[in-house]
Amino acid sequence: MEDLQADLSASGLTVSTTPEKGRCLLSIKDFSPGEVIISQEPYVSVPNNSAVHSRCEGCFRSSNLKKCSACHVVWYCGSTCQKSDWKLHRLECNALSRLEKERQKSLTPSIRLMVKLYMRRKLQSEKIMPTTARDNYNLVEALVSHITDIDEKQLVLYAQMANLVNLILQWPDINVKEIAENFSKLACNAHTICDGELRPLGTGLYPVISIINHSCLPNSVLVFEERLAVVRAVQHIPKGTEVLISYIETAGSTITRQKALKEQYLFTCTCPRCIRMGQYDDIEESAILEGYRCKDDGCDGFLLRDSDDEGFICQQCGLVRNKEEIKRLASELKPLSDKATMSSSSHYLEATSIYKTIEKLQTKLFHPFSINLMRTREAILKILMEMKDWRAALTYCKLTIPVYQRVYPGFHPLLGLQYYTCGKLEWLLGETEDAVKSLTKAADILQITHGTNTTFMKELLFKLEEARAEASHKRSSKDE
Ligand SMILES: [Zn+2]
Ligand SMILES: [Zn+2]
Ligand SMILES: [Zn+2]
Ligand SMILES: [Zn+2]
Repeated sequence: MEDLQADLSASGLTVSTTPEKGRCLLSIKDFSPGEVIISQEPYVSVPNNSAVHSRCEGCFRSSNLKKCSACHVVWYCGSTCQKSDWKLHRLECNALSRLEKERQKSLTPSIRLMVKLYMRRKLQSEKIMPTTARDNYNLVEALVSHITDIDEKQLVLYAQMANLVNLILQWPDINVKEIAENFSKLACNAHTICDGELRPLGTGLYPVISIINHSCLPNSVLVFEERLAVVRAVQHIPKGTEVLISYIETAGSTITRQKALKEQYLFTCTCPRCIRMGQYDDIEESAILEGYRCKDDGCDGFLLRDSDDEGFICQQCGLVRNKEEIKRLASELKPLSDKATMSSSSHYLEATSIYKTIEKLQTKLFHPFSINLMRTREAILKILMEMKDWRAALTYCKLTIPVYQRVYPGFHPLLGLQYYTCGKLEWLLGETEDAVKSLTKAADILQITHGTNTTFMKELLFKLEEARAEASHKRSSKDE
């Protein structure tokens, strides 16, 4: 721990503890928006591989892969990734090769992550792998497990998973109970590794990054560059401030966010947004994001249940929406939503038609800033992009932007990415001036959240340059 403190203080950081939150990461210098606060390679990581989709164990790339010829479980993109993983994989490869084919197929990413965790600990304790202040098992040991808060069913599941890990490792003096507790640790500490567009690629354990606590109104953001976890400031962080990131999807009412945090991370959030729960502006925000729309199409007031429970009353114009009418619309929606989730992703036309019916009903039912409606439109946008219907996709992308601006304020990567999609579509459709505007907005946000060095960001900045050049060319040829 002393080593870690010395190492962190060189980066302008320190670990402190509070009775309410346990450990927390504090700044001991000012950080400005876009500045990297801390970065860390994973202690262990695994790609989200499935029977149909595989990624390289080292860099998570999915092209030109070759299977390890010994265990037939792990994939590599080439000899560089294979070599750098060999010390650890040699142990793992032996263990995996012993397994029957059927068992091999049942290896989930969590099981593999746990197996790798034990192997790395062993290799480091035997000094076959080096340790550093930020890279050692003591840091994993210090992570919270919340094991006493876990329900019986989950405990049984962890015990079963621990038995499987034990069966794979076959080490004589292993503590199966400790493996089960470590599964609980992974559940609340492991991070989903995403690409630049925030699509999930795999899972990793970053014991120093895990010290950073959650806020629904964070001052920092966590993104990944391949497997490297990078935390950047999204606002000015003065010296002596706690560094905070968001663990969850922050679009949602306070109740929804609190529920998500309790279920997955087993704590009650007391961030500046959450402590307002039950106050008028918090009730208003919940009713806008997750409540019903006014009976009058021209009114954007929010609705609250009226006192005699007959219906919902608009807080702006006073019109009442009948409870029965809302119930009827909701019951029409339910089977459609089920059908949409069931619909095969290859039947684009069928899926679009179901989602558009849902959209129509949700527009009648929910407030225009409804998150449910936003999700439906995101689904339609995704299908339209697959169908290469750029014109319709742009319409849907634009429909989501006002809601994104509301639910992802400030420098939020998701808002930046949505502007990026908008800009790419406008560019494809020849709407160059609009493309420049959207790509500029995207770059303004994503340079803060993602930095400027990754391939992803270089592509965006290059596209923006291209669009600017074309726009000025178009303008000058118009002038002639
Ligand atoms: Zn690779
Ligand atoms: Zn192998
Ligand atoms: Zn909160
Ligand atoms: Zn109204």
